[in-house]
Amino acid sequence: MRAAPAQTLKDSVVSVCEKHDDISSSVSEAGVLSGDASTSIILPKDQLSVLTPVVGPTLDLHITRIAVTPPKPGEVVVRIAWTGLCGSDPSFCVGPQPGFASHNHIAGHEGIGHVVASHDRSLLNKPVAARYLTYSCQECEYCLRGLPESCPRQLAFPKDLNGTFQHYITVPQHSVIQLPDYVFARDSRINPGVYAAALCSGSAALKALRAAQLRPQAVTVVFGIAGSIGHLVGLMAKHIYGARVIGVDVESKARDRMVKDGGVCDRFLPAPGNPEQEKAFQQSILKLCEDLRGHKNVLIGADSAIICANRASGYNNLTSYVCDGAAIIIVG
Ligand SMILES: [Zn+2]
Ligand SMILES: [Zn+2]
Repeated sequence: MRAAPAQTLKDSVVSVCEKHDDISSSVSEAGVLSGDASTSIILPKDQLSVLTPVVGPTLDLHITRIAVTPPKPGEVVVRIAWTGLCGSDPSFCVGPQPGFASHNHIAGHEGIGHVVASHDRSLLNKPVAARYLTYSCQECEYCLRGLPESCPRQLAFPKDLNGTFQHYITVPQHSVIQLPDYVFARDSRINPGVYAAALCSGSAALKALRAAQLRPQAVTVVFGIAGSIGHLVGLMAKHIYGARVIGVDVESKARDRMVKDGGVCDRFLPAPGNPEQEKAFQQSILKLCEDLRGHKNVLIGADSAIICANRASGYNNLTSYVCDGAAIIIVG
């Protein structure tokens, strides 16, 4: 990306040289802006964004040039290096929904990058992330039940703060979370963009697995295995928890090799296409559980069912697929 024409920051703002297209090569040139402004301590005057000018009933995204806002005290400017595109983002751009901007809305809530301007020198160059939930009260009934995502006093990207579909976000410094340095390590073999997925679908998948209290060798059925959350649930269940995974989804979605070749599930079962197929589907689930455990096990059905499907039919007959004492986890 080419840097846009520069704009001088006000004095006392600490900023990062913005001469290079590659953030990793520019973050070492931080400094403090004093009265005699230097061209090496600047932010671009404007930037590209993906913006909805008027939020209405249909998706209306425009690539639009907008201003880069210098930070006030307590704020940081983060240059977004990578942002995920979540399935929720299109829905955030229509409405407008309660609490969301009705004009000039910018979506995106899986962004990672570096602090490039701040009044607080200690924050400069820090790798940070912008994810959906930035604040929850920790006092209300939802927070106390471990559901901060439902807190009525929450602050979130891209509801209360414009999101990460822009190159520079100017936001309260407490609204971003610090990342470990290895995310952007030059010698890493992992593309930093992979970590963006951990901010939304990855964390939802991990929370579901923790709620299911999965044990090694346990059998779990993941409904919606071909979706963005479902396939991460399957991957982590298999490769981190050591569980056995039965993946369920509509067959047309599961043509993806990730599902078919066993990477995200041990067995794949097409979801029933109509109510008449549900009995046979249930028997197939129970048979697969038996096969995966070995025939001498007394348990009938899976140890857990994790539902990541977005179709109502994915919620039918759930108790008939699991054993006594099983966990049924609904994600989303
Ligand atoms: Zn999301
Ligand atoms: Zn709360």
